[in-house]
Order: sequence, then structure tokens, then C-alpha cells
Amino acid sequence: MFFDITVMDIIDIVLVALLLYYLYKLMKDSGSLNVFLGILVFLFSWVLVSEVLHMRLLGSIFDQLMSVGTLALVVIFHDEVRNFFRSLGSHRQFRFLSKFFSRKNEAVEDPTVMPIVMACNSMAQQKVGALIVIQRGDTLDEIINTGEILNADVSQRLIEAVFFKNAPLHDGAMVVRKGRIVAAQCILPVSHNLNIPRKLGLRHRSAMGISEVSDAVAIVVSEETGSMSVAMNGKLYQNLDARKLEALLSK
Ligand code: ATP
Ligand code: MG
Repeated sequence: MFFDITVMDIIDIVLVALLLYYLYKLMKDSGSLNVFLGILVFLFSWVLVSEVLHMRLLGSIFDQLMSVGTLALVVIFHDEVRNFFRSLGSHRQFRFLSKFFSRKNEAVEDPTVMPIVMACNSMAQQKVGALIVIQRGDTLDEIINTGEILNADVSQRLIEAVFFKNAPLHDGAMVVRKGRIVAAQCILPVSHNLNIPRKLGLRHRSAMGISEVSDAVAIVVSEETGSMSVAMNGKLYQNLDARKLEALLSK
């Protein structure tokens, strides 16, 4: 059976290996590596039982489990599945597609970047904690509904006023959409990623959380350290200065 392997078979195996690697990376990033190992053991047993040992009864049980299991996995890991397709869609090679379908998918519009950067820089110097989420393609309506609607132009002074210590709306996240401050005091989903350093608290974890489930960009100013970070596509960029922050937001 090993002698009639064709080129297509080899390409097939390479593609499956690539798919498994991608799945591994995704599961590792979202802190569910053990689940990946479990799936791997299951797939290995399935191939062994039905393709190598040709055990028909056990094989058919595995087949059944496989069809139900795939659906169950999609339900259980809907966030990861969503991230998988989102990262596939935002891959460098396919960028031209997103440019083609939506000309406005390019991070924040220019005029809003500078006031946000200046406000964050100033709050960082005074160690005022802040959390700002900038909506891109995916809608954040559910998040916005948890907060207080502001619907105001983006301005450095307004951002600083909102996050001013003990100001009524300083808690939670501010959401910016299409150059407007839509809401403040919004509640974000908290990330359960185990790779986030333990010293980082809920402000950073919720910034990560929203960047994992949407294409939004979240900026964090730490109250404890006065440092600035950005969460984007499930990654946290820490210890940014104003220049780096601006570069990340204009990307
Ligand atoms: P810092 O470095 O500023 O201390 P941190 O990452 O250590 O940040 P915490 O000290 O836990 O985080 O910050 C708590 C603040 O984070 C809360 O007061 C609240 O404003 C904000 N926060 C916590 N959870 C959420 C959430 N789920 N959504 C939005 N904001 C949140
Ligand atoms: Mg803290």
C-alpha cells in the first residue's frame, strides 16, 4: 500500500499537516492546548481503527462520533472557529480582498488617531487608567449597549475628562466608532487566555478579550504603571510610547 503513493497524496498529507499546525497555534494562543491534544489522539485512533486495522464495528462508532463531534466542536469552540476564519481572511495574501470589498476597513480614520494618542499619552504620564476600544469592521453594538451612550466627537479633552479619576464614567471601556465616541463605561468580554502574564489585571484582560472575539483595537493605559498597551487580533503589544501607539493605530 505504501508503493502507490502519488504526488497528490503527498500534497494531501502536507495540507493536513498544515491544517493541524494552524489548529495547534490557534488552540495554543487561546489556552486550550489540551483540547487540541485530545482531538489529535482521537483522530489518530480513528485512522488506526478504520484505515489500518480495518475494525469495522469500532470504526463505524468512531465515524458516528466524528460526525456528531465535529458539530459539537464548532459549537463549543465558536470563538476559536470565528478567529480561525477571521485570521484567514485578514492574512496578508488575502488583504486585497478586504480592500476590494470595503474600502473603509483600514483601522481608524486619520483625524481621530492623534487626539486618542495624545489623550492616552497624557493619561499615562499622570497614571490615569483608561480603556478605549476602536471599532473596525465587526459591529460592537452588544458591547455599546452595556455602557452609557455619549455620541460625541473624538477630542483629547473629552477622553481625559471621561477617564479622570473618580469621574462618573471612568470605569469600564470607551468605544470609538467612525470618528465618534459612541459610549463609555462599557463592559468587555474578559479573555481566558492562559498566556497573559499574571501581573496584568482585568483592564488588560478585557482589552485582550474584545480583540479575540472581534477585529476591534483596544488601547489600555495602566493605572498601576502608567504604561500604554494595545490589544489587536488577540495579541497584546505592551510598553508603547506615543510614536509606537500612533503607528499601531494608523496601520
Ligand atoms: P491597571 O494596570 O490599570 O491596574 P489592570 O490590568 O491591572 O490595569 P485592574 O487593576 O483589574 O486591571 O483594573 C480594573 C479596572 O478595569 C476596572 O476598574 C474597570 O474600569 C476595568 N475593567 C475591569 N473589567 C472590565 C471589563 N470586563 N470590561 C471593561 N472594563 C473592565
Ligand atoms: Mg491593576
